[in-house]
Amino acid sequence: MTMRLRDQLVSTAKQMSALGLTPGMSGNVSVRSPAGFIVTPSGMPYPELTADDAVEIKLDGTVRPGQKTPSTEWQLHRDILGARQDVQAIVHTHSMFSTTISMLRRPIPAVHYMVVLAGTDEIPCAEYATFGSAQLALNAVSALRGGDACLLANHGMVALGSTLAGALRLAAEVETLAAQYWHAASIGSPHVLDGSELKKVKDRFAEYGQSRSKTKRSW
Ligand SMILES: [Zn+2]
Repeated sequence: MTMRLRDQLVSTAKQMSALGLTPGMSGNVSVRSPAGFIVTPSGMPYPELTADDAVEIKLDGTVRPGQKTPSTEWQLHRDILGARQDVQAIVHTHSMFSTTISMLRRPIPAVHYMVVLAGTDEIPCAEYATFGSAQLALNAVSALRGGDACLLANHGMVALGSTLAGALRLAAEVETLAAQYWHAASIGSPHVLDGSELKKVKDRFAEYGQSRSKTKRSW
């Protein structure tokens, strides 16, 4: 069980890197495990990662000895998994456009209907706190109260899922939305879809039998 989760975690981290979502060695991934959660290690190049490098941590923060050093953002993952029992996996990136928008410390508004995949009418931006800090974890949990994705001010983005694949898919969708918003805002003032239109979009997605956590089809 745990070995399979470790394999899936490493595979997801490598896909995240291959998608260009992790400049340098940035970003990290976690998945809920029977004992707590498993997270990517700190400071290892993605191509070199193996299942044994993943680090299992209990929800109280205890790390079994003999493992690699966990990601510096392990508290971020622990606190979100603690607060959101519906979430099984988390992807955190420093992807270019999400991080660019995060520097403005503003949300990504509903400039495209795909925003509803995150379960909210905009992608909020969590308040700034130093990377790896307990405060950053608290700020992220607060921003993720209503939905499954948020920006982290002057830092990056977080996406949640009921599976590792779902969390990665949502992270890629948010990055696309951030890129489109950036491009549109560069040449004018993007129109923002209002709440009643977004309600129609949600209803239509529901008709298709799609929920925000299982987006197997593209529209
Ligand atoms: Zn980070």
